[in-house]
Amino acid sequence: MSYLSHLNCPECDKSFSADEWRTVCPNCGSPLLARYDLPQARACLDRDAMTVCSTGMWRWRELLPVRDVAHIVTLGEGNTPLLHAPRLGELLGLTHLYVKDEGRNPTGTFKARGIAAAVSRAVELGVLGFVIPTAGNAGGALAAYAARAGLPAHVFMPADAPQSNQREVEMAGAQLHRVNGLISDAGRESARLATESGLFDVSTLKEPYRLEGKKTMGYEIALDLGWQLPDVILYPTGGGTGLIGIWKAIDEMQQLGWIARSVQRPRMVCVQAAGCAPMVKAFEEGRDRCEFFTGAQTIAAGLRVPKPLGDRLILRTLRESNGTAIAVSDDEMITARAQIAAAEGIQACLEGAATVAALRKLIASGWVKPDECVLCLNTGTGFKDPL
Ligand SMILES: *Cc1c(COP(=O)(O)O)cnc(C)c1O
Ligand SMILES: [Zn+2]
Repeated sequence: MSYLSHLNCPECDKSFSADEWRTVCPNCGSPLLARYDLPQARACLDRDAMTVCSTGMWRWRELLPVRDVAHIVTLGEGNTPLLHAPRLGELLGLTHLYVKDEGRNPTGTFKARGIAAAVSRAVELGVLGFVIPTAGNAGGALAAYAARAGLPAHVFMPADAPQSNQREVEMAGAQLHRVNGLISDAGRESARLATESGLFDVSTLKEPYRLEGKKTMGYEIALDLGWQLPDVILYPTGGGTGLIGIWKAIDEMQQLGWIARSVQRPRMVCVQAAGCAPMVKAFEEGRDRCEFFTGAQTIAAGLRVPKPLGDRLILRTLRESNGTAIAVSDDEMITARAQIAAAEGIQACLEGAATVAALRKLIASGWVKPDECVLCLNTGTGFKDPL
């Protein structure tokens, strides 16, 4: 049984029923967040029983939005390894470095978590099909989960998105629309089709449930660290769902009493590509929203998001956590990717490699101390990237 209680707008604080189709806040346009009856969950849920008796992302189902388990659409997402990385750590000058390897998810990236949650809940609410704008991997995941649910999907992707993503969408039987432009242009076209056709738009943060799937990374990190938290988490940020989601999970776990209030929360680091760094710019300028980043270009397709819808939530998370935002070049990602593979045998995607490149800079500047516990999220497998 899910403790989902309602949807809430983090900007204007209006609340809405969670049991009907919802996109963004009808009052102010902000993304909506799923809220749970956490006092009740705290009284009834047994953290250790939940983690002993089942595995994978849906072991947290009471804290996910699907009410009837029969509606869960799964390919076995979640439960990715938290790998201690002593050799890579030594190279960087750290003793407690961890990599959470999200490349082990279905479709090869952590997009599987968010899409599994959103598709499952949409099936439960009776949608007839999906549209999505994507830089690449979210489209691949949507195509896979829509196939699994037996529903149609339309995927709008920049024409220069990775071939691997275009192929996986077509293989899974979804309709691929190649768009001249960026994910922002794809977003306009998919929104138009959603309006015309009544299909459900699963754009990042335009519906509340992808975030819920991605928050399960936060639950897994705490579980794997014995209900402790790292000092620093580095996250390669496009739309920012994982960053916001992990922070939400930490808040929920403290409200549930699963993590002591005395446990220090991690400093969250938003890592972007130098060629598309709207959040870094906004953070450095002390703004609470970002501007559209013109001429966005990077080889890390997942980071090519010129104007994330969740910009306020990302910036708020960085400030609340005493975190920071930092950009790295494509060359630095390529170098880091080789270092990760040679030191630890982990074939990281370019986005994941960006976190290690950023970590090197943060150590050099003294922002990260040698004895701190640091976690880098490798958000996908390197095998989908051009080598
Ligand atoms: C989408 C994606 C990201 C960025 O994730 P957001 O939640 O959009 O910030 C990072 N890495 C990979 C591999 C991705 O596919
Ligand atoms: Zn609102």
